[in-house]
Amino acid sequence: MHISVIGSGYVGTTVAACFADLGHEVTAIDIDEAVVDALNEGTAPIDEPGLEELLEKHAGDRLEATTSYDAVPESDVTFLAIGTPSNEDGSIDLTALEAAAEATGEALADKSERHLVVIKSTVTPTSIERTLEPAIKRGASDNPNVEVGMNPEFLREGTAVEDFMHPDKVVYGTNSEWATERLHEVFAPLLEEHEADIVETDPATASMIKYANNAFLASKISLVNDLGNICKEFGLDAYEVMDAVGLDDRISEQFLRSGVGWGGSCFPKDVNAIIAAARDADYDPALLEATVEVNDQQPDRLLALLEDHVDLADARIAVLGLAFKPQTDDIRNSRAIPTIEKLQQRGAEVVAYDPVAADNMRERFPELEYAASAADALEGADGAVVVTDWDEFAALDEAFDAMADPVVVDGRRIIQRRDGLTYEGLTW
Ligand code: NAD
Repeated sequence: MHISVIGSGYVGTTVAACFADLGHEVTAIDIDEAVVDALNEGTAPIDEPGLEELLEKHAGDRLEATTSYDAVPESDVTFLAIGTPSNEDGSIDLTALEAAAEATGEALADKSERHLVVIKSTVTPTSIERTLEPAIKRGASDNPNVEVGMNPEFLREGTAVEDFMHPDKVVYGTNSEWATERLHEVFAPLLEEHEADIVETDPATASMIKYANNAFLASKISLVNDLGNICKEFGLDAYEVMDAVGLDDRISEQFLRSGVGWGGSCFPKDVNAIIAAARDADYDPALLEATVEVNDQQPDRLLALLEDHVDLADARIAVLGLAFKPQTDDIRNSRAIPTIEKLQQRGAEVVAYDPVAADNMRERFPELEYAASAADALEGADGAVVVTDWDEFAALDEAFDAMADPVVVDGRRIIQRRDGLTYEGLTW
């Protein structure tokens, strides 16, 4: 098939490269010329394992990039993978996606064969019906050949290619059997190689499945953190407790590691968006609000434990780990951000270290001191907190001896405990 993918960010680039690798002819469309040039040269505009290899292999052959929407009508199916960031109140900002939807419609105004436009972006259950479908239809001057569907994406940054090629499930949210068949043709080469559950539903339900998925995972972590905080109050090890809890099939052993909380570009945005959408529908989502509240309090608990040992005013504190999770340089909504802010509010001098995310954090906190290594950050520090579980922190050991006072509060259970080091685990 010939597939056009609009938006070449984390999701769009991965989807375009993977579809090309599965044998489709793909046109990637983005308004950013630098992104388009990179794709045509076979280089990845984002850092994702395996992505560059796919782009190198298919650029100029099965995969072409352009800033023009002219290729849209020549393709069989169009995927929209545009960002849906948060507004101030947590609701999603559909401005960019709506503009792309309308431009896609315009490109299809004269198409005489049926054409499916698939929303890949994460949108609330009413977004397609109220905003995106009208924008596409408006652009297409109500051309009856244009149909809209929804296919939410579940890939994770850091393992995007692997996740896309080996999904647990593929969700087709459509309004007709024809559209379901089209999506099935698109995914057939993937499903021939890899067995996955297929969910056939309508676009609004497909939209909700994505939010329910992320809200469930974020809530599972917040519940585990809440239980972990209780364990800590009783002097118990939350990991020992949850290892046993995870033996229950109904619960599963995954996502039971308590710590300083979740961040990144998806969980915070998506949980807040579905809370805002629920409130808009006059429903008070009490449990999801608590999910956010528990997450917000974890950095405070980290610092309260540090304050049991160090007077933070004028103290030099090493913050180890700035990325929202290991193996990425993404700092969006990283728990390091509130941790640094709260340390500064208490008058501490912060020295920060991350193996790859320091440059990104420098844009957010230009005034901070950034150390070249974890050992450098610890040298002369009055205390340390661990925010990201980079493997290298497990091997620090003697570096703690260079601290003015060897005190560490571990938010990720990565530091080895030993004599001579005052160690506090956040929930253990
Ligand atoms: P992104 O910000 O990385 O990429 C969006 C791209 O769209 C940018 O390259 C931008 O230049 C381009 N763009 C903006 N307006 C355009 C227009 N009018 N025409 C053409 N291109 C345009 O976004 P992302 O992280 O890829 O996320 C896209 C969607 O997928 C979001 O809704 C997000 O919630 C969802 N999602 C993201 C992930 C993830 O891990 N990042 C996972 C699953 C779902």
